[in-house]
Amino acid sequence: MAHSVRAVEEHLARLGRHLYAIRIRVRHNFAAKVRSPAQAHIFSNKADILVDAGLGKECQRRAIAHELGHIVIAFEEFQHNGKLKRRADAFVEGACLIFEEDLCTRHHKFNKANENRPQQLFSSLADHPLAQ
Ligand SMILES: [Zn+2]
Repeated sequence: MAHSVRAVEEHLARLGRHLYAIRIRVRHNFAAKVRSPAQAHIFSNKADILVDAGLGKECQRRAIAHELGHIVIAFEEFQHNGKLKRRADAFVEGACLIFEEDLCTRHHKFNKANENRPQQLFSSLADHPLAQ
C-alpha cells in the first residue's frame, strides 16, 4: 500500500507543482469515535489519513485506498477553484468507492504475480529467497 500512497503523492505533486505529503496515522478506537474506519484531513500541500488500529489489514488497506480517492478529488477541485471542501457529497462518495475498488484490485493483482516479487523488496533484499 505504501507504493499506492507514494504514487498519489507523486500525482498530486506533478499536478500542483509542489511537494505533497500524505501521512498515515493509525489510531486506537478511531472507528467508534468517528463512525468510519478512516478519515482524511486534507490540506493544499499535505493530508493525514487516520485509520482505526483495530481493523484487519485488508480493511485498513481498503479504507486507506478510499481516503486516497478523497484526497485526489479534493486536490483536483482545489486546483480548479481554490477551495478545499470539508465534506464529500454522494457523488464524490461513489467516485471514492470506485477508486478504492480499482486501487485494491490493482494492488492484489500486482502482489499475486510472482514476477513482481523482486520489485516489492528493497534493493538490499535482492538476494532474499523471495526475490529469486
Ligand atoms: Zn468516503
